[in-house]
Amino acid sequence: MPAGSHRFQVGSISCTVLTDGYCGYPTSWFFPTAGAEELFQALEARRISQETVLSPLVCLLLETGQHVVLVDTGAGESVPTAGAVIARLEVEGIRPPDIDTVVLTHAHPDHVGGALDARSRPAFPNARYILGEPEWDFWMAERVDLHGLRVPGELKDTFAPKARRCLTALRHHVELVDRELEILPGVWVIPAPGHTPGHLALLLASDGQRLLNIADAAAHPLHLEHPEWENGFDLAPARALATRRDLLERAVAGNMHLMAFHFPFPGVGRVAARTSSGWEWTPGW
Ligand SMILES: [Zn+2]
Repeated sequence: MPAGSHRFQVGSISCTVLTDGYCGYPTSWFFPTAGAEELFQALEARRISQETVLSPLVCLLLETGQHVVLVDTGAGESVPTAGAVIARLEVEGIRPPDIDTVVLTHAHPDHVGGALDARSRPAFPNARYILGEPEWDFWMAERVDLHGLRVPGELKDTFAPKARRCLTALRHHVELVDRELEILPGVWVIPAPGHTPGHLALLLASDGQRLLNIADAAAHPLHLEHPEWENGFDLAPARALATRRDLLERAVAGNMHLMAFHFPFPGVGRVAARTSSGWEWTPGW
């Protein structure tokens, strides 16, 4: 298990990355379109498993002095190797009622699984829950079309019931956003569709420093080095690639730090455009 938390400042905003745990997936789910030999070499060069991707889940706690914000809630109790975020918050001196804003980047189970408590009530009782309006519309529609995902059907079939259960329980607490919006001073949500229809990125800007949290717009650093490699969890792969490109170009142009929910802990670093194609990931803040 990686260390539990990592602190840094974005100007006057105190940031703490909190690990919720990890999930393990077959490598082909993460890189369904990568060439076999190229993927083999890339994994070999990083000395990571050819068969399994161990994918961390990292939530972000923001303390502005006025507000206490949690970005994504982890997988909750459904995943035996995850669900640690509440305990991590307690270590940081934060109790669930202290959180006044929860940003749900999207409604996949590893991001909303911790949003409800064991009795299916909002786990953060005093919070407003920010969610993309297209995300709500997608999961709450009569028919949820997940044919774009390249993961097994048994897994796909679990997504909509989990999302609907969570969103239904949060229905009096959600605030839906349909455009780029400053939700708190220095904290912006940015529509970043493709992974899911209402997927959101988050931009922090304070005192000249900036962090762009791209959530699941890239699920692994290899998705930066090889931007043409799709992620099997992306519902609309072409749209997801375009969004990934837009966000990374924005980060480079704006000299921003980057954060990604599934990158190796603590998931924070910098990107630079490579001369050939794609981007180089350098971890650290
Ligand atoms: Zn995810």
